[in-house]
Amino acid sequence: MVLAQLGGSISRAIQQMSNATIIDEKVLNECLNEITRALLQADVQFKLVREMQTNIKKIVNLDDLAAGHNKRRIIQQAIFNELCKILDPGKPSFTPKKGKPSVIMFVGLQGSGKTTTCTKYAYYHQKKGWKPALVCADTFRAGAFDQLKQNATKAKIPFYGRYSFDNLLDILSAFENLEIDEFYTESDPVRIAVEGVETFKKENCDLIIVDTSGRHKQEAALFEEMRQVSEATNPDLVIFVMDSSIGQAAFDQAQAFKQSVSVGAVIVTKMDGHAKGGGALSAVAATKSPVIFIGTGEHMDEFEVFDVKPFVSRLLG
Ligand code: GDP
Repeated sequence: MVLAQLGGSISRAIQQMSNATIIDEKVLNECLNEITRALLQADVQFKLVREMQTNIKKIVNLDDLAAGHNKRRIIQQAIFNELCKILDPGKPSFTPKKGKPSVIMFVGLQGSGKTTTCTKYAYYHQKKGWKPALVCADTFRAGAFDQLKQNATKAKIPFYGRYSFDNLLDILSAFENLEIDEFYTESDPVRIAVEGVETFKKENCDLIIVDTSGRHKQEAALFEEMRQVSEATNPDLVIFVMDSSIGQAAFDQAQAFKQSVSVGAVIVTKMDGHAKGGGALSAVAATKSPVIFIGTGEHMDEFEVFDVKPFVSRLLG
């Protein structure tokens, strides 16, 4: 079974090794180096690959391999298990309970698919009988509120948000001599988040999803804003949304988020693309949190519960 799950280059490396007449350390090392290359190409962090290599060498007994039987199975099993182990942080994430209000905060870089994922997550639960609601606390990106509003309306999910002062400025810049600051808007994401959460708690929503800003630049300001939103809304779970194509940058990025807010779960988006998603291993290692869902397309229902085995086989493919 494991053989079928192992992908092309890895299978080839193992095949080559098991064809060798004598399996000595050199042959095993060559095989492991080949596997390392494949995993690096799949964006698994170098450090994790090295650790895995060391662990496999400890597990795989050369005498067993030399005995001639089950060589392939022993190595395959070891690789597969090691990768699954990296994806298991050892504790499950917070699981919301139907009928009891939970606040779920989403964080991630701009473009990672955060806003789309918020709606997918809400829609997924709504179909299972939950009463979700969406709060747009992203006052930075022009259009963020409109995007969430549009998605939420389509899915018939209640939403809360306001246009920010800056966004309104853009709209009104077409008019001359206008006293813009007389207009009331709200650009404080913390205030919006708190208002939204309070509103939906009163409405007995059991899954209150807070979408935060994910600006690219001004990183320090982004992390401070996230920290404040988290402090003010006291989320039961913070979900880090990561684009599967982020590559080797995944570890540092996930770590930076974890250092600001208490990330408790990971969602990997755009798994329908070319990327194998090896960055997910880094995100798990950096946040010590499990991957809970994957995004597999732009549509609301292209969202799946994370399943470690198919994910690892794709990684090795
Ligand atoms: P945000 O800036 O992090 O809020 O990102 P958005 O939610 O606006 O998503 C950025 C782009 O990625 C949009 O064009 C989305 O349609 C797209 N997107 C999000 N998730 C997925 C996914 O799982 N697969 C694909 N193919 N596209 C996605």
